[in-house]
Amino acid sequence: MINKRIGIKNLAEIIASEYQEKITPLDKIVEDEGLRVFYDSYGKNTFDGMTLYENGRFSIHINTDLGNSHDSAKGRFTLGHELGHYYIDSHRIGLKKGLLKPHPSRTNRQQFNKIEREADFFASCLLMPETRFSKDVYKKPFDIGLIDFLKEEYKVSRTAAAFRFADIGNHSIMIIYGEAGKIKWYNCSEDFPYKYLLHEKNVAPNSVMGEFFKDITDDIFKTEEIWAVDIFKYVKDDDINKKFFEHCITFRNRALSIVWGE
Ligand SMILES: [Zn+2]
Repeated sequence: MINKRIGIKNLAEIIASEYQEKITPLDKIVEDEGLRVFYDSYGKNTFDGMTLYENGRFSIHINTDLGNSHDSAKGRFTLGHELGHYYIDSHRIGLKKGLLKPHPSRTNRQQFNKIEREADFFASCLLMPETRFSKDVYKKPFDIGLIDFLKEEYKVSRTAAAFRFADIGNHSIMIIYGEAGKIKWYNCSEDFPYKYLLHEKNVAPNSVMGEFFKDITDDIFKTEEIWAVDIFKYVKDDDINKKFFEHCITFRNRALSIVWGE
């Protein structure tokens, strides 16, 4: 499992490093591979992307109805994900032999399916290769400004930049995503001191996100201090006075928080 991750990372990074551009030129990759990519409107309740193997050729379909335009951060991640299905041996062979059914991929969410997780990880490494990313994390002191700098630098979404940062950044963080007052998923750096949320279902009331959901008015974009005991499970007695920072960004009834310590 670990080896497979390393294999995927190396594969994606070798492909990215074949091009000089910092913003991985997906168009060129597609062209060099002779792949056909179709951007079209496939409806709102369908998929972000889908890779098909027909008559001896691969084609990738990208759904513009879900914000996956050719040049958008989301569209780029979706194409990166579909390229994962093409480049990762087990996916490609599966698609060719019909063992892996063409499936509707949905990106920008926590993936529970192994194949989808692998394709997302491939996209993440392809768009934000470690060799480049790990230097850029030192260009600014850590706060939300650094995540936003990385997001622009690699033309990815804030969530994608935060995920990569949680994985290989220089400061451990937790990312929490909520919708309508409920926790949808959370994820943290390997060395983040707490692994579990105190409130796994409903957003912790004494958090920035919790305050937002109590009375949704205007969207927020702010950093505040929060108590570890208010949001994490298994806080030791000695750490009862420990504080963290939470930066919460909202859009209608959706919210993303990034949490970090000193
Ligand atoms: Zn997929």
